[in-house]
Amino acid sequence: MVFAKPELVLLHPPSVYDFRKITAVPSPISDLVPSTPAFELYPIGFTFLGEYLERNGINTRIVNLAQRMLEDEGFDAPSFLSKLRPRAFGLDFHWLTHAQGVLEVSRILKEIHPDIPIILGGYSATFFHRELLNYPQIDYVIRGDSTEVPLLKTMEVLRGAASPEEVPNLTYREGDGSIRENPLSYVPAGLEYLGDNYRYAIRSVFKYRDWKSPRAFWNWWSYPITMVLTCRGCTRDCGFCGGSSSALLELCGRRQPAFRPPERIAYDVSLISKFTTAPIFLVGDLQQGGRDYAMNTIELMSQVDPKNHLVFELFSPAPREFFDRLGSSFDNFDLQISPDSHDPEIRELLGKDYDNDELERNIGWALEAGCKKLDVFFMIGLPGQTRDSVLETVDYCAYLLRNFGPRLNPFIGPLAPFIDPGCPFFRQPDKYGIRLIHRTLEDYAQAALSPHWRDMLGYETRWMSRQDIVDVTYEALLELNALKSKNGLLSPKRAALNERRLRDTVSLLKLVDDILELPDAGMRRRELEKLSEECRRLRQRLYLPKEELMWPLTGSRFRMLNILRILMGWI
Ligand code: SF4
Repeated sequence: MVFAKPELVLLHPPSVYDFRKITAVPSPISDLVPSTPAFELYPIGFTFLGEYLERNGINTRIVNLAQRMLEDEGFDAPSFLSKLRPRAFGLDFHWLTHAQGVLEVSRILKEIHPDIPIILGGYSATFFHRELLNYPQIDYVIRGDSTEVPLLKTMEVLRGAASPEEVPNLTYREGDGSIRENPLSYVPAGLEYLGDNYRYAIRSVFKYRDWKSPRAFWNWWSYPITMVLTCRGCTRDCGFCGGSSSALLELCGRRQPAFRPPERIAYDVSLISKFTTAPIFLVGDLQQGGRDYAMNTIELMSQVDPKNHLVFELFSPAPREFFDRLGSSFDNFDLQISPDSHDPEIRELLGKDYDNDELERNIGWALEAGCKKLDVFFMIGLPGQTRDSVLETVDYCAYLLRNFGPRLNPFIGPLAPFIDPGCPFFRQPDKYGIRLIHRTLEDYAQAALSPHWRDMLGYETRWMSRQDIVDVTYEALLELNALKSKNGLLSPKRAALNERRLRDTVSLLKLVDDILELPDAGMRRRELEKLSEECRRLRQRLYLPKEELMWPLTGSRFRMLNILRILMGWI
């Protein structure tokens, strides 16, 4: 193994730079994902980009800057960045929550390295590509949901071996400062070309002598869950989703989902199960590819005989056969489904056309087939949803727990801080009773700095104001916490910790509100500053393992001998 200098650094910024220094009460928006409010989990696409570029002769190193800042309050990001001198930096701007972090980290990079180009990609970058190029720190935006080929071509431009007009999907500044938008012509119909991303990830740790920077999220080292991508795109069209079929058609020119071959998915599961016994999350509902695709993928994975927990997503109810096949194929399988509301009429407004009978039939079949844990997600801040409706959803969780027992694990949380750009709600807010509050990229970036997460929210509905959404969120979270404790899903100690954190957050938000009412801006700033230590402590209380979102390891975290074998190419 040769230690190498990267030609490209793929860098994941925190949602807000520098989240460690601003005074903001942490929101519960990241409670339903492995990340903290810094949203340090980078898109899985980073590892595919890295693998593809390295396969084509471009040394590519992944740096999760958000994670580095999170693990060490004293981590000096500018000093760290100043030591990186690649030919280009690539930043993901996939989720809009990163608007401020992307712009600010890019600005710092440009200040330190004025001659190193900065390339952005991701759904949000695709939507805001022209606006992004109004910022002097951004040089290129690669649009679309599959950027491996255009990014390689962009690197050839930077090597002087191609010209920018040859790069598909690229938006860039011409010499005279005008913005040029190349056609969105690279939209692969299949994903056969995606390579061995986990082998790349393991090798790159040694190749760049850096085991800290590529970690996916804050406690990944003790809980090395992995993800296996099954497809890009979606057959469904959920109103709030930037990855929905209509959003991807509009933004990325994708007419139908592109699937990875079942053999590649089974290969990934096989490789991962050789180096860890941690859970493996399959991203995307296998049913989207049709019955044969789903069954074939399950069959090939079962031949690998993984002992890891395999976690499957259901975008819609499945036939009984699907669950039975999972049950007969794997020792440990788990499921996730998001009905979003207990009320089928609200669910239908979101674009989900199944009723509670279908949902409950699926839950019953899944548990009968041996599903170890079935996560059911409900959201707050939906069209047609009132405070009473949210609390009825919690009652419905109680009903589900009574009927199905503690293998069913319900969650509730705010939909998102921002409506995804390009999704149906974003395109037609009036139709759904939504009022969009932020418009420009700068609006989103500034909103992310709000001390109160109510002011960060980018929308409200005809039925609930932003304050209503905040208030009912804590009511619902407290009720669900008590319900889970009563049903044995949470230990009394964990439930008490959760409750204290939620109540402390509500108290702190009240203090922030009182300060925001002060007439003098200077006084507001000084008073807010006094709360910074409390905000920091509250943020750190979120760095607890999210046990409710975890699945067990079935053995040792890492199989070091096999990692060595993978490095040597013997596996
Ligand atoms: S929320 Fe899920 S099922 Fe709905 S459109 Fe998005 S990716 Fe598809």
